[in-house]
Amino acid sequence: MNVAAAPQFNEIDAERLARDLYGRSLHAEPLPSERDQNFLLSDATGARFVLKIANRDEALEVLDLQNKLLAHLAPIATGLAFPRLLAARSGLEITPVEGTDGAAYFVRLLSWVDGVPLATIQSHSANLLRSLGASLARFDHALVGFEHPAAHRTLYWDLRHASLAWRHLDLLPEARRAMLRPFVDDWHSLAWDRLPTSVIYNDANDYNVLVDPAGTSVLSFLDLGDVVHSAVVCDLAIAIAYAMLDKPDPIAAASEVVDGYHQVRPLSEAETDALYTLAAARLCASVCNAANQARLAPGNVYLNISNRPAWSLLEKLASFPVDWPREVFRRVCGYSSAARSSASLAKARRRMLGPSLSLSYSEPLHIIRGWRQHLYDAGGRRYLDCVNNVAHVGHAHPRVNEAITRQMALLNTNTRYLHEQIGAYSERLIATLPAPLSVVYLVCSGSEANELALRLARAHTGRDRIFVLDAAYHGNSSALIDISPYKFNGKGGRGKPAHVEVMPLPDVYRGPYRGPDAASRYAAHVADAAEHTGGPAAFFAESASGCGGQIFFPRGYLAESFAAVRAAGGVCVADEVQTGFGRAGSHFWMFQTQGVVPDIVTMGKPIGNGHPMGAVVTTREIADSFDNGMEYFNTFGGNPVSCAAGLAVLDVIRDEHLQANALTTGEYLLAGLRDLATRHPIIGDVRGQGLFLGIELECAAAQASALVDRMKDQGVLLSTDGPRHNVIKIKPPMVFGRSDSDELLGKLETGLRS
Ligand code: PMP
Repeated sequence: MNVAAAPQFNEIDAERLARDLYGRSLHAEPLPSERDQNFLLSDATGARFVLKIANRDEALEVLDLQNKLLAHLAPIATGLAFPRLLAARSGLEITPVEGTDGAAYFVRLLSWVDGVPLATIQSHSANLLRSLGASLARFDHALVGFEHPAAHRTLYWDLRHASLAWRHLDLLPEARRAMLRPFVDDWHSLAWDRLPTSVIYNDANDYNVLVDPAGTSVLSFLDLGDVVHSAVVCDLAIAIAYAMLDKPDPIAAASEVVDGYHQVRPLSEAETDALYTLAAARLCASVCNAANQARLAPGNVYLNISNRPAWSLLEKLASFPVDWPREVFRRVCGYSSAARSSASLAKARRRMLGPSLSLSYSEPLHIIRGWRQHLYDAGGRRYLDCVNNVAHVGHAHPRVNEAITRQMALLNTNTRYLHEQIGAYSERLIATLPAPLSVVYLVCSGSEANELALRLARAHTGRDRIFVLDAAYHGNSSALIDISPYKFNGKGGRGKPAHVEVMPLPDVYRGPYRGPDAASRYAAHVADAAEHTGGPAAFFAESASGCGGQIFFPRGYLAESFAAVRAAGGVCVADEVQTGFGRAGSHFWMFQTQGVVPDIVTMGKPIGNGHPMGAVVTTREIADSFDNGMEYFNTFGGNPVSCAAGLAVLDVIRDEHLQANALTTGEYLLAGLRDLATRHPIIGDVRGQGLFLGIELECAAAQASALVDRMKDQGVLLSTDGPRHNVIKIKPPMVFGRSDSDELLGKLETGLRS
């Protein structure tokens, strides 16, 4: 339909037509329309009508289709108010009139329907969205059995004929075309013959959906101009395409609409699966047609109404994992075999799992997908993941996934055979470390790594005593709980064992020493203990403390402490489980920021991007001491699949320049947090190194965790730590970027204000 063939009548013409054709003296105001002309006509008594002047190219039989449809709907109890058609004085329901261009235009008069467009309602409640779905389902029900020859037409807004819109893809810039491509490909794979058909409304856009002014429920659907015989589910797809516009969580909004619809007119499985493809196709068709129409009628503002929001929605949808929205809709409609309600999952957990396992957040999340720096829940919400340092190179990274599945399909066995993977991986891992760290042990977790480090140190020194930093956590085995003040001094802990010495955490914000000599004064405690205890087997320290509350040590602290420990015959263990693999930004390992070389480095969490792995790297000398005849065997440690995962992680860190990203993004975020602190006195300190940052709040634990909960409600995942549980931890996947930092900072601003 040619937009340029839209009628060009003015208000005076409209008033004249009302008088001449309908014998009514009414005041006219224009209403927006893409290709027709509509006028609101009213009189002094408040009576209101709509005068519709059809596009020059509109076929009479299509107007007849609309009129017959209104007549069909009138007696049906849909709960919706549809307009009534008013005949002209001549008795005609459709009257041809001559335009100023000499062409004939068809005029109709309809009664007014009260309500305001959905698009003008600021915030769409879940109830309103469900009402949209339910109302549309009732409408679709009412349409069943209605037939009209004109409905069997080829309409470019019919999603079956979206290929008419794809012809305009070439009008779009290359990058945008590429962004639409997967949605268009998806549309091409639709199995149309599995979708029930009927005459459908085909235009539940947010300007056509009328709701009550309070925005609680849907009253009517306007404009039957796109009515066509097509797949029924297209009606819902179109409604959700528009309901998703400008929503922070478009899939969650859409699933409310789908739920409302499904309750009234249950969707088949094929319809449920087609829904997202069709909704995205509608948005794509919309921007393609807009591009074409902008070319034909550059002045028509109506064309631009939904263009910008449609593009930003498409950008958002394009960033989602492809199968997630479909899975959310399958869950809503009861077609997901995996689906269980959050309540039933929580109940099953309580019944079957050890009760000492905790859940994050006061209302736990039910996450079903991870992708890059986001987590995706079962209800259609996406969360910016600011705390997951395990999904180091991004959740579900395709290269890691591919490496694991390829190797798993070939071979997975223990390390007692010759195999390329373990050698290749060890070589690459050693290459990241300074000499003399050159001997690798591969294990399955951070705890196993620290457990082995304990044994290495004890075998090498023949001693038992361990020095640790206050508030440290090194792992979940008995021996590691014994060297973790975080645990042995915490709830359920049995206190400090005799063989353990706890060093003050070198915290220059809250600890006892804060001045320029803080490093030496903290290190003096290590030297003092080394002197008075006869020397430790090992000094275990994270290179920046995680459980201690994201604490960065004063410059020189580790160098002085390591010197004292070594002078007393002990070895120095750097626990890099949280901090390693480029997170520090300036260096690959956090210990390098302190200018030291440990004797043993332990690794975990990020090493396999979620694949259970750990590693210990030490010196030849220590490894030889450990080689005392007792074999170190670890069934799964160093298996070819784990090595493939580890290699892929190292490759991605290198190829995607993630260490450099940690540096630049980390600096940007730190500057933003410092700025935030100037406006929010509750922020006591902000600190960070690369993408390992902390915000220390001057408040009680409960307030800090309330802030974390509020951030979750805004779609941002954070957590608290530190002995006072008042430090907000930030340690996101390393693909975290500038716009993610902006989102985090903006939402922290809001979260801190409320
Ligand atoms: N060391 C540190 C510093 C850790 O944070 C953790 C885990 N939180 C561990 C060791 C233990 O690692 P895992 O849970 O993989 O056994």
